Amino acid sequence: MSEAPRIVDSTIRQLADILVCPACHGALEWIEETLQCAPCRRQYPVREGVVLMADAGDDEGATRDGESILERHLRQERAAVESGRRIRRLRRELHIVTDALCEQPVSESLLALGCRGGRFSSPMQSAARLLIEADRHPEVVRYAVQRAMNPSRVAALACLPEQLPFRDDSIDGAVCVRLSHRIESDSRREATLHELLRVASRFVLFSFSDTVSLPNLSRRIRARPINEGTMRFAAVTDIGAAHGAVITHRETVSPLGSRQHYVVMEKKP
Ligand SMILES: [Zn+2]
Repeated sequence: MSEAPRIVDSTIRQLADILVCPACHGALEWIEETLQCAPCRRQYPVREGVVLMADAGDDEGATRDGESILERHLRQERAAVESGRRIRRLRRELHIVTDALCEQPVSESLLALGCRGGRFSSPMQSAARLLIEADRHPEVVRYAVQRAMNPSRVAALACLPEQLPFRDDSIDGAVCVRLSHRIESDSRREATLHELLRVASRFVLFSFSDTVSLPNLSRRIRARPINEGTMRFAAVTDIGAAHGAVITHRETVSPLGSRQHYVVMEKKP
């Protein structure tokens, strides 16, 4: 961590150029190692290379059973390695992300929201000069940057998904895969997509658990427990339209029907 402070510094400064206060969208200024909002005076420290803009309050790094968020991610990764089915899904997701990025011109900056240890770091770094790994948990973001192939071009940000600290249209594109169904309320889930489309000037790759997908409908009919974090395709389309974005591509992991639907939303100039 101490070997290249200058490189990390310069990446944080590049990131800070496009950041605004998540609470009031005011301009930020450096006060030593902290970003301070000029209008509302809120302060956002930089700790171990991560700009901290999430309200840490309730669940800073710990799950209910005391396992840290990072430990949970690592455990899930190990489980994925042991389960062929999940490995196939992850590989398919990597394809979806890579294909979507290949359709786009090289970007100045890309945002990976819900980066979960840098799952898509490799194709995203190849497609952009600056990759912003973002998650609400700082330790997860730190882990992603440590694993990046070129950390000098990766910036680390802890922020709330429904309150993105960027100016309008300030990044070229955003990838937000397998995050929205974990956001508890309908309004926060929709707010997250609104925010992604507000800050991205060209495209958003977004995945959501489709309310009327076959697996979700089938579980509902059989009165089986269901993750309630679903969205309807029409709602996703409407949110896109509100930002001048259209869905140019849609697919699922399995052609036989899966919960997660992946859409590429492009803003037309
Ligand atoms: Zn502010």
